[in-house]
Amino acid sequence: MVPTVHLRASVALEVIPFGLAFYDLLMAAEIMGVPDRYRRYDAEEPIDACPNCGQSSRLRRHDRRVVWPKITHNLAPLFDPYAMEEVWECLLCKKSMIIVRTFEAGENQEREPVAASILYPVLPPKTLQDEAPAAVTSLYREASVAENAGALRGAAALYRAAVEQLLTDLGIPDGKLGRRIEQLADRGVDVDVVTSFHEARLLGNWSLHDGVEFSPEEVSDVAELIVEATEELYVIPAKREEMRAARAARRTKDTPSTSG
Ligand SMILES: [Zn+2]
Repeated sequence: MVPTVHLRASVALEVIPFGLAFYDLLMAAEIMGVPDRYRRYDAEEPIDACPNCGQSSRLRRHDRRVVWPKITHNLAPLFDPYAMEEVWECLLCKKSMIIVRTFEAGENQEREPVAASILYPVLPPKTLQDEAPAAVTSLYREASVAENAGALRGAAALYRAAVEQLLTDLGIPDGKLGRRIEQLADRGVDVDVVTSFHEARLLGNWSLHDGVEFSPEEVSDVAELIVEATEELYVIPAKREEMRAARAARRTKDTPSTSG
């Protein structure tokens, strides 16, 4: 049943040079409840932060087409390298986003993309809190630009560089990164922070030396871990210091003449 419908869709595309006929056939197949795995309205996925509304939401795929090496609405995956453009809609804010996924050549039709990037809306690079050292923030922002462009290995290597810069800022001497991170623990830094730095280190290691591919989620998680670590190392201490100063100022004000 399914192959029949699919075959007819392909024939329609070849014989009738009007895209609408192809769409109509696909739509008819969907309305009839035919489980065509290449149909357009077939996927729903969770997203941590929608690029439009920033909320944790779900996305529904509304349209997709192969855009490279040739543009076509025939959705059967190619064996050659190809790029797929997809339009997803956020179920909360109802706004759309365009994603391009790229696939390398493969022996199986069904395979994972090697990169996925959001084409629109244009994402601003992520940044660190104001209290973080400027040199660390600079590397972090550049990593985020690479991440937004789908250059995941570059992003992982730059996030690792941000961690190294942060250790330098904390006065930890040069050396093997793993050992430097361990010195954080020796200095009483929270075990969660140390663990997250090790994760950023390992991700950067894999990206540079082993050519391992990882998912956008893995890179995004490490970016988030660095934010948590800088919160612990810079933001919370700065707030504590602020409150301590405020308390001291109040005490001075309350007892102006006796404190000498
Ligand atoms: Zn949204």
